Amino acid sequence: MAATPTTPESVKQITYLAAALKAPRIIEAATRLADQARDAGWTHEDYLAAVLEREVSARNASGAELRIKAAGFAARKTIEDFDWDAQPATRQQVGALASGGFLTEARNVVLLGPPGTGKTHLATALGIVAARHGHRVLFATATDWVTRLTDAHRQGQLAGELARLRRYGLIIVDEVGYLPIEQDAANLFFQLVSSRYEHASLILTSNLPFSSWGGVFGDQAVAAAMIDRIVHHADVLTLKGASYRLRGRGIDSLPSIIATTGETSN
Ligand code: ADP
Ligand code: MG
Repeated sequence: MAATPTTPESVKQITYLAAALKAPRIIEAATRLADQARDAGWTHEDYLAAVLEREVSARNASGAELRIKAAGFAARKTIEDFDWDAQPATRQQVGALASGGFLTEARNVVLLGPPGTGKTHLATALGIVAARHGHRVLFATATDWVTRLTDAHRQGQLAGELARLRRYGLIIVDEVGYLPIEQDAANLFFQLVSSRYEHASLILTSNLPFSSWGGVFGDQAVAAAMIDRIVHHADVLTLKGASYRLRGRGIDSLPSIIATTGETSN
């Protein structure tokens, strides 16, 4: 114990003030760091900075955790969990995206490739990166997004919903192409893409090359206009190879889909 400990009165006051600031970690940090500061001869400024730093880093960590929980990921997957031996060609691109710069520039990411090649994994991992960088994130399949937009539209709330969604730094649309999207819904989806264009990021995953999106959205013109906006500021990553799910199961390939996605370009 130091020779001149803080008076019980000021400790009580710190407890009260930290609670009023809703910064409970300050209570613990203030007394513990005060002893350390006295022993090490810190300046008052060093001490204050150290106390505030504890509160801020704890807040950032718990904020990131809340944003990850609120994102609605199907499973928690990180870049550290990803086995690059299976996708060596994309390592550098993903590494660059992991700095989070694409979010501040409102750039998009498109992950293309056959089933099981890690599209959802990497989309989720980049979503977690975004949450850790302080961005709000929402993850859902294309079908779920369509349902959500259709409901909003039916209630006359589409504009409000799109405005609300723009407050999310990142929206992930998983599995574009697994199910066809009706023409009305395709228009709503187009509005989602337009409303985020150059404002906030999108990540899309698809087992189909862009050339097949016209079939998914039931309209070549809508698909073309949408792809144009998505790709204008985007990184397109093409994953290749056999399904990671089927590794070691003695199954080398899945039928047909592999043949159609083989020629994914730009
Ligand atoms: P896709 O969305 O392309 O169909 P997923 O991302 O869902 O594929 O991957 C299928 C499963 O295999 C998931 O559990 C995922 O975590 C895992 N997986 C896929 N690729 C890799 C990889 N390169 N390293 C580690 N796990 C992987
Ligand atoms: Mg997937």
